[in-house]
Amino acid sequence: MLIDLRSDTVTKPTKGMMEAILNAETGDDVYKEDPTVNELEARLAALFKMDAGLFFPTGSMANQAAIKMHTQPGEQLICDKWAHVYNYEGGGVSFNSGVSCKLVDGDRGMITAHQVKEAINPPDFYHSPLTSLVCLENTTNKGGGACYDFEEMLRIHQVAKEHGLGLHLDGARLMNAIVAKKEAPEQYGKIFDTISICLSKGLGTPLGTVLIGNKEIMQKAMRVRKVLGGGMRQIGYMAAAGLYALDHHVERLAEDHKKAGEIAKALEAQNYVRKVEPTETNIVIFYLSEGMSEIKFMEDLSQLQIRISNMGQGKLRVVTHLDYNDAMHDRFLNVLSNYN
Ligand SMILES: *Cc1c(COP(=O)(O)O)cnc(C)c1O
Repeated sequence: MLIDLRSDTVTKPTKGMMEAILNAETGDDVYKEDPTVNELEARLAALFKMDAGLFFPTGSMANQAAIKMHTQPGEQLICDKWAHVYNYEGGGVSFNSGVSCKLVDGDRGMITAHQVKEAINPPDFYHSPLTSLVCLENTTNKGGGACYDFEEMLRIHQVAKEHGLGLHLDGARLMNAIVAKKEAPEQYGKIFDTISICLSKGLGTPLGTVLIGNKEIMQKAMRVRKVLGGGMRQIGYMAAAGLYALDHHVERLAEDHKKAGEIAKALEAQNYVRKVEPTETNIVIFYLSEGMSEIKFMEDLSQLQIRISNMGQGKLRVVTHLDYNDAMHDRFLNVLSNYN
């Protein structure tokens, strides 16, 4: 039994999802003639009470398209120093949009309205790049699945509005935040201009992210996606997986969160663990005690058919997901308590 806890992207379609894929009605989506893609886009837009959606092959491409839609070359966006758009999208912000990032020193990947305000360059000071966009992430990836306090996002929205800035949400794991904090999707639709929602993380599809947003900005989305090479043809097979995931895999995220909480608790009890970060959703980040080698620890786990990931700087990461079942959970907890 291989227990793969490196990421929630390692899941395979369930039987039910596979059936939905096989039975999908499809068409050429580049002509906008794929009914299943159109349904998925409309459904997510409606769920968040936004005007339109567009299906992308990856979350990175959806974020990159949004940044392009919000900015002009030479401008600047504001994000946390740990943001995925800055750290893990291959330098796409500068390559695709010619934009720089003003990095904010946030808390577990989350920034405050006050920090955003301080990071805005005065628009009449022509020596600095013009600030045009704020990008938030919820839940945060490098921050260990941390969830924003909604009130803080409201205040950030207020600052963005006062200064005429766009507001984009990298919602790769937004459904985890919504389930964990018992929020309503439309709360997000009200304050963000664009939101990317990943279907292939906790929701368990093989691929796909939907970018949703308001009419005016989304008018640019098809052209930008084309420029990035992201038009797909009979992709309704994958949209069907997305619709299936929205029906069957949202509420169950609570189960992943429960297991992650139990792993965090088990780790805290071990003398070989120095610190466990607060665990709010499906990601557990922890540090080994002084003198312990992360490499050896990971190798020992690997011998036992358990995989976790190393985030560097002593950070180890475990991510729970759809394919991590109760039997695996019992075994992993058992291995953790007996390790020395
Ligand atoms: C995974 C992830 C993405 C998108 O990643 P892709 O692999 O391109 O789909 C974007 N933002 C965050 C925070 C993520 O965790």
